[in-house]
Amino acid sequence: MGTRSGGEETPPLTVYEVFVSVQGEGLFVGQPQVFIRFSGCNLDCRYCDEPASRSWRRHAPVAGPTGETISTIESPATVDEVIRAVEELENEFGSPGVVSLTGGEPLLQHPDSLRALATVLRETGYEVLLETNASIPEKAGLASHVADAVSADVKLPGHGPHPDDVTERCIRFVEKITGPRVYAKIVITDAEDLKEARSVLEDVVKAGAEPVYLQPATGFDSVPPIEEMVKVATETEGDVRVLPQVHAVAGWK
Ligand code: SF4
Repeated sequence: MGTRSGGEETPPLTVYEVFVSVQGEGLFVGQPQVFIRFSGCNLDCRYCDEPASRSWRRHAPVAGPTGETISTIESPATVDEVIRAVEELENEFGSPGVVSLTGGEPLLQHPDSLRALATVLRETGYEVLLETNASIPEKAGLASHVADAVSADVKLPGHGPHPDDVTERCIRFVEKITGPRVYAKIVITDAEDLKEARSVLEDVVKAGAEPVYLQPATGFDSVPPIEEMVKVATETEGDVRVLPQVHAVAGWK
């Protein structure tokens, strides 16, 4: 097999895993997708469902929807190696037509490599969804370039320890996206999160996020009752929805 990136040398990508499954969050829930999960994250959320992906690992599994590993690639990996993993999944499970770049935080990868990867994926016929923690507004240009759609988490200070201005930074990120459709998710772990979310929801909508999802945190007993979330959603002007992590509810990867 020849090189798909035209032999262009870009810095390697720290890949944590490549797998095919069903999107369990946000606008594209239920859609089969290939997920390229990158290692490394600049935040440390207390509800993180992939905490291990914050660290680098040498052998990245290439896996099917039940989590069965069909092969591994060595990380860091070249764009061509990542593309070959995607093709391997296609051969085994068919092409879902959408690749999600996720993490960790995908925007921490080298911009040239992320651009090269997105270019090859698009040339192959894939749409690219970028799932980001949105906390680095300086990367909004890169996000706009590599993605057809952006899923932006809006982090709250209580999700961390996070910097005090984390929410403001996420809103600025959303504002700066030009081109791709952008929607937002705010994870709600408790009543304090819901109160904070309520105070920033209008700004998130005004920044251009559509819809905005209030996402009850999986496995947290402190999540406020559904009626309180519905009230916050209906009181806010704009398209605000309430949606749990469907893959977690269903027990999928
Ligand atoms: S931003 Fe995402 S990957 Fe990073 S710690 Fe938070 S939940 Fe985990």
